[in-house]
Amino acid sequence: MSTAVFDYDLLVIGAGSGGVRAARTAASLGARVAVVEDRYMGGTCVNVGCVPKKLYVYASEFGKGFVDAGGFGWETPEPAFDWATLRDNKKTEISRLNAIYQRLLETAGATVIDGRAHIHDRHSIEVNGTQLTAEKVLLATGTWPYIPAFPGSEYALTSNEIFDLPEFPQRLLIIGGGYIATEFAGIFNGLGSKVTQTYRGDLFMRGFDGDVRTFLAAEIRKTGVDLRFNANPQAIEIGGQGYHVTLDNGSTLEVDSILCATGRRPNIHDLNLEETDIQYTPQGFIAVDERFQTSESWLYALGDLTGGPQLTPVALAQGTAFAHQHYGSGGDAPELEYVPTAVFSQPNVGTVGYTEEQAEQLFGELRIFQSDFRPMKHTLSGRDERSLMKLIVEAATDRVVGLHMVGPDAGEIVQGMAIAIQMGATKADFDRTIGIHPTAAEEFVTLREPVR
Ligand code: NDP
Repeated sequence: MSTAVFDYDLLVIGAGSGGVRAARTAASLGARVAVVEDRYMGGTCVNVGCVPKKLYVYASEFGKGFVDAGGFGWETPEPAFDWATLRDNKKTEISRLNAIYQRLLETAGATVIDGRAHIHDRHSIEVNGTQLTAEKVLLATGTWPYIPAFPGSEYALTSNEIFDLPEFPQRLLIIGGGYIATEFAGIFNGLGSKVTQTYRGDLFMRGFDGDVRTFLAAEIRKTGVDLRFNANPQAIEIGGQGYHVTLDNGSTLEVDSILCATGRRPNIHDLNLEETDIQYTPQGFIAVDERFQTSESWLYALGDLTGGPQLTPVALAQGTAFAHQHYGSGGDAPELEYVPTAVFSQPNVGTVGYTEEQAEQLFGELRIFQSDFRPMKHTLSGRDERSLMKLIVEAATDRVVGLHMVGPDAGEIVQGMAIAIQMGATKADFDRTIGIHPTAAEEFVTLREPVR
């Protein structure tokens, strides 16, 4: 069938990071593109994820900045934090970004349709009661917070609501031990809440390097977060001055708000995918091939809902690759072996490559280089905070297969390091790189003796 019989060459469902990138790039390559979105331009990252989160991290770091300034000679009046100012300034900034995303799509020549899309038939989508056809339909609807079912779990908030709370929670319970839970523990602790974070297992941040997880837990506890392992809420009731929470270890606590950050699942519930022969991964994500094609020849998917790393830069790279594969000069799907990532916890975590546990399985003999130290700033601030740097080297090849950091600006530092790791840098390459003094990052090029 010629594409001219369709209303569009490409119809993208979802205007988040991946969908917008795919749509813009395809349109600029000459495809007739429409994007359907019913919620907000820019998706999770712009509206209830990376962007507002980072703004709130900045806000929360001032708290300790005021205290640390004393050791450097500053006398500061007692600082006061106003939640409404932060929240409303954030809203203004996000509205600005929403408009930019809309403009980017329109300037590229894509049609933006405000509405909720449902699959009607092969190549056919229903939006606002109208049927639209497209040669290719791209699902880019991302993921949605998952809340486990237990008595009272309906009182828990998710990262969709936490940014815009009408009142600042003086006492906050955060359920979960992954990215979102740990980042928000730092945010609200820094802003002045009494934060309790519960994790169901022995040690949070599953999937990260073991030393990073242990070190981060100790550092977070020093900041005042009540971080509890082997503790999971069993029931939430309204009671006393807030919510009364019973944990599965028998203890109870009373809080003003509860944030549930227990993972995100594909946002596909009312797309009508039951009418298709689409296949899923064992974890319930949409299975795609290296051209982002699902098991339906006209239906494609990319980004978080396909089960890879749920990270904006991955979705962006996939969006670009999809557009070039289908409307440009071809190319491969992005290589995902050495994807760097940062957790904007306090302190930050930055990581690229394999954990020691993974590397042991994959590469056999390793050399581990590791150092922890007090950041120079805290010699005068007096703050009891340490940073960790770790390199994992494959003994047979000298290649650095994992690089991990816990400490200020870990995300900024690891982004640069990731280029070297991606290029296959060896420990000898690190050793002959001259450091920048005095920085924390120079530690990565001055680690001389393996610890194991
Ligand atoms: P994560 O997968 O990172 O963490 C989920 C946490 O919830 C884990 O500790 C998990 O425990 C726990 N959990 C899962 N199910 C239950 C349950 N039934 N009861 C109790 N605890 C449970 O998900 P997040 O929601 O934190 O974030 C989603 C994704 O978003 C992340 O994986 C990340 O890819 C992305 N993200 C990235 C950020 C960044 O780049 N800085 C920031 C925020 C999010 P267990 O480990 O035992 O399964």
